Amino acid sequence: MKLSKEVENGMTRRMFFKNTAMTGAAAFAVGAGGPAMPQSAQSNKPSRKISGKTIREAVRQTRVCRTADVVVVGAGPGGIGAAVTAARSGADTVLIERYGHLGGMGTGGLVTIIPNLSDFRGKQQIAGISQEWIDRLKRREAVDHPKKEHWGSKDSKLVAYYENRSFFNVREKTVIYSVHIDAEISKCILNDMVTEAGVKTYLHSWGTEPIVDGNQVKGVIFESKSGRQAVLSKVVIDSTGDGDLLPFSGADFKSDIDPALRIANLSFSYWMANVDLKKYQDFRKTHAKELAEQMREIRKRGGHAGFLTSNLKDQDDLVWVFPRYGNSSQVDVEELTRVEFLGRKEMLISHDYYKKNIPGFEKSYIVLTNPQLGTRGARRIVGEYLLTEKDMNTNVPFEDTIAVFPDVDRGQDSLKYPLTYMPYRCMIPRKVNNLLVACRAFSSNAVVNNFFNLIPHCIALGEAAGIAAAQAISSGVDLRKINIRALQASLKKQGAILPG
Ligand SMILES: Cc1cc2nc3c(=O)[nH]c(=O)nc-3n(C[C@H](O)[C@H](O)[C@H](O)COP(=O)(O)OP(=O)(O)OC[C@H]3O[C@@H](n4cnc5c(N)ncnc54)[C@H](O)[C@@H]3O)c2cc1C
Repeated sequence: MKLSKEVENGMTRRMFFKNTAMTGAAAFAVGAGGPAMPQSAQSNKPSRKISGKTIREAVRQTRVCRTADVVVVGAGPGGIGAAVTAARSGADTVLIERYGHLGGMGTGGLVTIIPNLSDFRGKQQIAGISQEWIDRLKRREAVDHPKKEHWGSKDSKLVAYYENRSFFNVREKTVIYSVHIDAEISKCILNDMVTEAGVKTYLHSWGTEPIVDGNQVKGVIFESKSGRQAVLSKVVIDSTGDGDLLPFSGADFKSDIDPALRIANLSFSYWMANVDLKKYQDFRKTHAKELAEQMREIRKRGGHAGFLTSNLKDQDDLVWVFPRYGNSSQVDVEELTRVEFLGRKEMLISHDYYKKNIPGFEKSYIVLTNPQLGTRGARRIVGEYLLTEKDMNTNVPFEDTIAVFPDVDRGQDSLKYPLTYMPYRCMIPRKVNNLLVACRAFSSNAVVNNFFNLIPHCIALGEAAGIAAAQAISSGVDLRKINIRALQASLKKQGAILPG
């Protein structure tokens, strides 16, 4: 759309003009500090104050392309869990994903490690959809993990062996159940899982706005090459990771993150292939000091030292580099753009250095950069229950526990409090009805989020959200009033591990 000169010059007076490219009249108002949200026919709930120049868009008619029971926005780990279980529980389910593949960071972000499925004693604590996904990958030899009989072992040789393969395999000097997966095969398997469950999926579709009537969420507007369309539904599940629907839903959310935390960082990830890892490992053993000096040199030149290996069958020439970038916001398009440019620049600095100087990398090449930039922390809802550190320091489950998360790396505290329980309420936003948030935006402070914002954990939240949504719809009750015992029973039936 072309703006008139007055708009471009930042005038603040009200003005209207016709846009001939659109059918009907497109009206714009220009002002300072007013709501900059589209004022669509279905939704009119801007909750952000925006300072500076704004325009008012025309009221418009949006095509309803479908009605459904449940619409899930975002097909990362949380969204997959939610869509598959909602559909399997009998709900007519729509899944909306902005990219052309499923899996979120677990595929497009090149994050191929599914960690902490067991606790330190080696007892599996996260199963359900995560385990089903892993089992399907296993049938294609697309996973690697410590053997089951070794989970919980403290045998120093085994610990050293598995730790050398990946530090995710060991916690507190014990072998645990963590899995490396193949991202490409994973995309195909996730396609199968949603298709077999009967989910109607829209790829290449951005969920832009919830449809809100008072405090009732009634569907979602999404944009794609087919234009702007709406899906009406009884329940909406925000699984965008970043909580994209929250600012427009009337729900409270937080985005404060201590810059020292892992989740404060964006990442630009890439894979280097054709690496002679055996040669590299030999060099590392015999020239440890020299290698450390070279790593310092890479950093001095503005590159990134360090990588993880793939570990998968026939991928012993592949390494994953995932440099972290501090930022002012992980949902600011200018910041996302800055990191995409900087990431590529620094990738070349790093790879050039590796290739010229590090044995084993002479013939390496960059085979892939992340199709989606790595975001770790953006918005988090303020839910009916907000998890804080104190919830990590109790061994008592909630009445509405829907998932159990093995502790991460907290030294003595981990040994004292090995499990953290997730209440269903951490996915229900306060004030708003018919909306669940099943992804890393779950209701938690930044410290708790930093520990549990992981792939299998988000799948587990999604699983519970999908079943809860289907149950609320079939019994005709509010999401807050569902039968928790029935939810827990269904979760167990679908393979989730819960207390008792
Ligand atoms: C570099 C990096 C390394 C990591 N390492 C690990 C690790 O080793 N192991 C681990 O378990 N976790 C790791 N994590 C964290 C993990 O990847 C995330 O916590 C996890 O993927 C969160 O799942 P999610 O479903 O909440 O969000 P995401 O994985 O971000 O998925 C969100 C999905 O929603 C889609 N989406 C977003 N907005 C919209 C919209 N408006 N409309 C439609 N679709 C939308 C996205 O395209 C995506 O598919 C890492 C993260 C990064 C960035």
